[in-house]
Amino acid sequence: MSKVSIVRCPSYRPDEVQKAVAAAVDYLGSLGRFVKPGDRVLIKPNLYQNKPPTKAVTTHPAVVTAVIRLVREAGGIPAIGESKLRRNAKKTGIQEVAAAEGVELIDFVEPVVVTKKEGVFKRFEIAKQVLEADVVINLPKVKTHRMTTLTLSVKNLYGCIPRYRKTQRHMEIFKYRPKRGAVQSIWDLWINKEYFALMLVELYEVLRPALTIADGVISMEGYGPKLGDPRQVGLIMAGTDCIELDTVIAELMGVPAEEVLTLEVARKWNKGITDLRQITVVGEDLEKVRVRDLKPSVFQEDTADYLQRILYKFYDTFMTTRPAVDPKKCTLCGICETNCPTQVITRKKAEARFPEAKGSPQEVLAINYENCIRCYTCQVDCPEGAISVQEGWLLKHFGAELFHAFFLFNNLPYLHKLGHFLERRRK
Ligand code: SF4
Ligand code: SF4
Repeated sequence: MSKVSIVRCPSYRPDEVQKAVAAAVDYLGSLGRFVKPGDRVLIKPNLYQNKPPTKAVTTHPAVVTAVIRLVREAGGIPAIGESKLRRNAKKTGIQEVAAAEGVELIDFVEPVVVTKKEGVFKRFEIAKQVLEADVVINLPKVKTHRMTTLTLSVKNLYGCIPRYRKTQRHMEIFKYRPKRGAVQSIWDLWINKEYFALMLVELYEVLRPALTIADGVISMEGYGPKLGDPRQVGLIMAGTDCIELDTVIAELMGVPAEEVLTLEVARKWNKGITDLRQITVVGEDLEKVRVRDLKPSVFQEDTADYLQRILYKFYDTFMTTRPAVDPKKCTLCGICETNCPTQVITRKKAEARFPEAKGSPQEVLAINYENCIRCYTCQVDCPEGAISVQEGWLLKHFGAELFHAFFLFNNLPYLHKLGHFLERRRK
């Protein structure tokens, strides 16, 4: 069992933040416990949107600066990394921090395939620099989230998947329901939501940042994670175990852990401690700093959501990766059918074009891609190497740039909301 620290930090005044971050880390045993002289330390803030710090969407530059200075004091070599950093660095204030502190900015572009034997998701594409760093320090922003209720330290690590691969991953796993039906919450619109959260938790298990420091000085409430309102909370939280840290933050924000999907999945799949009674909290008394009236992120389905569902179907077919079975290599041993977590691999009658099929000339495997979560258990477990990762036609022929163009297209149904967004910006 690890510790989670809570420290008051009333504002983003640099001296206050520096003191609070240092105190939060000291409760865990000083930064020297995590960073050794000469270590390359990758600092991963939440910079996923091109918004100024006042909007409370991204990790505040003062928090990033404080961590850089602590890393230097410990003898480490800090760098700041994030997916889409090149686009967002200026507006989020991080470019200025990097220039002032003389720190390298790393835009996560190049993916490296990581496979593993345990768990459900056995294949990840992770930014090269994350894997090369000696130490990763995770700096999430505490916010409400339209889909996961809160976005905290586990979810922040999703930004370690480079650029369009991250968007693509959303589409591969977390798909719109094929039928409209009665919609009470955003969850009713999606299939595989639990698997999406499980993927986040298993990605965390691969990355295991040495330290996480959460920016809850000014958090976000309401329509998060992009369009909510800043909410003064005045806290910095730190921990070494993201599941335990997120459990404490959820409690602090007055949100039951079972409503935060990553925590609920962690509990259900036995991926960590989500029982507050088993977590050691140090620093401020949780009861005294608890937020009692946090406005949740609301959801209301409209025509735009419906149109987007249709577009997602298109993306899923042409712009994602999927497992493909080579009947010439497949012996029909049945391992992938048994191990597939969603049981979407079945057998079908072989067509005349596969007379050379190794297993049986009469049968070949078929995959129902609608419910395939692209965990690639089948690919990793196949003893014959008969399953490969196939790219959708558009992804294969036109790659990342086209993906961005289509993602813009994807947001076209939301254009009618532009007036609303502009109004908010004026305020
Ligand atoms: S594990 Fe490989 S060889 Fe066995 S049935 Fe699946 S694809 Fe065929
Ligand atoms: S078919 Fe393969 S990638 Fe798809 S869910 Fe099953 S095991 Fe995972």
